[in-house]
Amino acid sequence: MAFFDRDVEVMIDAETLRARIVELGRQITADYQGQELTLVGIMKGSIFFMTDLARAIDLPVTLELMGVSSYHGGTETTGEVRISFDLTKPMHGKHILVVEDIIDTGLTMKFLLENLAARHPASVKVCTLLEKPARAKTKVQMDYKGFVIEDRFVVGYGLDYGEKYRNLPFIGVMRTE
Ligand code: 5GP
Repeated sequence: MAFFDRDVEVMIDAETLRARIVELGRQITADYQGQELTLVGIMKGSIFFMTDLARAIDLPVTLELMGVSSYHGGTETTGEVRISFDLTKPMHGKHILVVEDIIDTGLTMKFLLENLAARHPASVKVCTLLEKPARAKTKVQMDYKGFVIEDRFVVGYGLDYGEKYRNLPFIGVMRTE
């Protein structure tokens, strides 16, 4: 029995994740032919997704990270977002692909896109592993999407519950949710 079996139920297994990420990588490779791409991974949730996605893309890719924290009023995000770790390189003239774990209300991505636009990149697109449309509060650009999921609190493959469960190789749901 693994440490998480009692608490977490599988929603998207590791093989399904792997196969979908390979497809996303192929699509991104085709769309950016002849260009260099900067992946901007949003910490900490997207780190596993970003490293797998990067290896599924057959193009010269550079990796950057950005950390954001949103203020929560209870379980709801307030939409107020703060940068806790900023990019280390100028983005002027770069083709940016923002890599995110999940778009829920969309407020974090809205903030990020406004922030990145101010750095005058050549282009900005968004790749999210998961979308939870039930809770959307604002319409955000999603150019590449792994899976659309129902309104459940998910963990694993980078996503946490109180900083735990990020290292699960699949997307799961808390049994006690
Ligand atoms: P948004 O601003 O779109 O509401 O929220 C985005 C962030 O909220 C995600 O990057 C993630 O950190 C967190 N989040 C939203 N839904 C979930 C969920 O189901 N599970 C986990 N672990 N985090 C979530």
